[in-house]
Amino acid sequence: MVVFALLCASQIIVSGASAQTAKVLGARLGVYPDYTRFVIDLDQEVDFTYFLLPDPYRIIIDMPEIDWNAPPGKVTSGGGLISGLRYGLFKPGTFRVVLDVAQPSLVSKIFSLPPGGGKPNRLVVDLKPTQRDGFLTASRQSMEAYSARSRNDTSATEQSVDVAVQSGRGGEEKPLIAIDAGHGGVDPGAIGVGNVYEKDLTLAAARQLAETLTASGRYRVLLTRDKDVFLKLRQRVDIARKAGADLFISLHADSIGNPKHRGASVYTLSENASDKEAAALASKENKADVIAGIDLSDENTLVQSILIDLAQRETMNLSATLAANMVSQLAQSIELQRRTHRFAGFAVLKAPDIPSALFEMGYLSNATDAKLLQSPAHRKKIADAVLRAIDIYFEKHKF
Ligand SMILES: [Zn+2]
Repeated sequence: MVVFALLCASQIIVSGASAQTAKVLGARLGVYPDYTRFVIDLDQEVDFTYFLLPDPYRIIIDMPEIDWNAPPGKVTSGGGLISGLRYGLFKPGTFRVVLDVAQPSLVSKIFSLPPGGGKPNRLVVDLKPTQRDGFLTASRQSMEAYSARSRNDTSATEQSVDVAVQSGRGGEEKPLIAIDAGHGGVDPGAIGVGNVYEKDLTLAAARQLAETLTASGRYRVLLTRDKDVFLKLRQRVDIARKAGADLFISLHADSIGNPKHRGASVYTLSENASDKEAAALASKENKADVIAGIDLSDENTLVQSILIDLAQRETMNLSATLAANMVSQLAQSIELQRRTHRFAGFAVLKAPDIPSALFEMGYLSNATDAKLLQSPAHRKKIADAVLRAIDIYFEKHKF
């Protein structure tokens, strides 16, 4: 599978993988007249908790970090009551599986089965249909049970996020550039031609950009994530602010219905979107937290409104300068969309004091763009252009 070949090629380290980490051997679905069964085959028993979330209806199962490299087979496209499957690292120590359900469904049974009859350890989840009211009641109860358990479990409260600031020679005075690889872990982002995941390409592009900026000797860099882990939008901004970043660049790759549509664009923050597509894109990118399932250990999970205060205006002007530089430099290297610098209410660009831009590097729904973004040579081209854009930015603004 393309995704895994890519993971190996770019040497992504799956955090915490050790001899004790349970390994997924496979996953399958069984559709019966009155229930749907979801099974994960594992090489050892794992602990689990779960809860239900409405709008859209989802069953969320959390477990300690496991190693899921086995292809999920047909389960991703669903069957019976299940309409989709997502999984990945949610935060250090927690692996999350999200089952989308097409209609309100209850977990009628969830249990571990020891090896037997030629089968390995299994985690079995049985779902049966219910009404919305029944789902909402079960959702409330499951969230209370989950929260009570999280409070008793010290490991669930750990908040550590790996932040690696790479220092170049001479250190301190060099501007610090925060590079934000969009999506990650349980949130794959867009899934494109050849089953390529946005979260993998953004991480590969972020690493390339970090390497290029560091090699220039003019910048220090900070990666908001350097592994396949989920980060809330707010966390991404906080990581950059705490480290005192001078610029924030969030990397993404979009996907839309028209497979012919291709090209990159650069976005900055605005209360009013420049056009309908920009508004739609922002609301899609802002849903990352919802897609991953809210983290019940943190009340401030959802960044809902984009309110811009006066102090932010100056930052917005600087963001626009950065975006204009990126557009002019990228235009010399890669295919851009016609209206390349656009505005919308992206939650991840909300740092009031850090000029920020969101770079959609291309469309994964387009075969050419999807192929290019998987090419290290193309990602190097992008990184070189962004380096030139940042150089011009700092020539004009000596801070
Ligand atoms: Zn994205």
